[in-house]
Amino acid sequence: MKTEFSPAFLNTPDGKLANKILRTCVHCGFCNATCPTYQLLGDENDGPRGRIYLIKQVLEDKPVTQATRIHLDRCLTCRNCETTCPSGVEYGKLIDIGRKVVEQKTTRDFKEKLTRKALLNLLPYRSRFTPAIKLGQVFKPLLPKVLAKKIPKNIKAGDFPNNNHTRKMIILEGCVQPALSPDINAATARVLDHLKISLIRPQNAGCCGAVNQHLSDEEKALAFVKQNIDAWWEHINNGAEAIIITASGCGAMVKDYAHLLRNDKEYAQKALKVTELCKDISEVIINEDYANLQHQKQKKPTKNISWHPPCTLQHGQKINGVVEKILTECGYNLLPVTDSHLCCGSAGTYSILQAKISQQLQSNKIENLTKHKPEMIVTGNIGCQTHLQEVSNVPVVHWIHLLDH
Ligand code: SF4
Ligand code: SF4
Repeated sequence: MKTEFSPAFLNTPDGKLANKILRTCVHCGFCNATCPTYQLLGDENDGPRGRIYLIKQVLEDKPVTQATRIHLDRCLTCRNCETTCPSGVEYGKLIDIGRKVVEQKTTRDFKEKLTRKALLNLLPYRSRFTPAIKLGQVFKPLLPKVLAKKIPKNIKAGDFPNNNHTRKMIILEGCVQPALSPDINAATARVLDHLKISLIRPQNAGCCGAVNQHLSDEEKALAFVKQNIDAWWEHINNGAEAIIITASGCGAMVKDYAHLLRNDKEYAQKALKVTELCKDISEVIINEDYANLQHQKQKKPTKNISWHPPCTLQHGQKINGVVEKILTECGYNLLPVTDSHLCCGSAGTYSILQAKISQQLQSNKIENLTKHKPEMIVTGNIGCQTHLQEVSNVPVVHWIHLLDH
């Protein structure tokens, strides 16, 4: 696709990148076939090809309307279109650039501004979000239904082993996961303890930056990114083998640190190292002798489960078949799930900002996941887990729990 950017924009890092990406798109429309919003809404502008064209117009300085912003807002950033695209169009990077410009050129109404500001001031801060969830759990019966269903029950983390193995890895605690499901990282630490790996939990690391990045608040996103790099650097220098992420949404973001800081003289090299070391927990387990985990010795009856691969794992990080292999070899029976490539509608803050579309996707997803009567649903991202649990009659848990016995 040819572009007509102004020379001034073309010379910026965003301009160069957008130009390169747009030129790889041949406008074939294959991507529309797997786009969840195109499937639901049937509007060309609510599919990737239409959005790419809208972004091109925005970046060429053509008039930007509220309608343009609505079509971009409706995108889940699930990156299913990237998986489908035969030309390798990096849609995720392009929509970040497009959204940033649209945000500057349009004005949101008061309610939208307030909601986005509230999300930006709450979600990325563990010290604010955790007490808010605890309050919500106490007063759940008094809360409006729509809010109450988003508050999970109080879950105990269980022991977090305090060991000192020779092999060490860093774990990202994150922002919302410790409040919503503190048992995930504790279970990860117990499983890794069996594999003789210790986890380091650097105190100054926090949110990965994804919430801000996807709400077009790039400056604050980069501040979180640098804060994490600073918090991890000493441990990386001391030989930490990997940075483990148990929420695939955060994993996709941390793997992007090298790209986000590519033009930063001080942080570019460090960010590259962090991206190299960043591993989804499945990428760590698959390379260990997990057949020796205690779980296998217990000879438990086979469990029928449904696996929901988060978009940030299968499309964002391109990790496919790894969790499936681990769980199958550990004796679990993974039931067939129709349309497992489609988003569940969680997508970060999407379930709040685009509630109607999100609920349709949630309902379709839960129908497909429960069709063959699983005993539980397992996934690999806290957002998908809490979103699906809202409407599921069976437990929805992180898959790492199935190795923790
Ligand atoms: S993004 Fe890829 S699949 Fe979609 S229209 Fe462009 S080239 Fe075709
Ligand atoms: S990221 Fe997902 S919702 Fe957005 S255009 Fe691509 S497939 Fe559609």
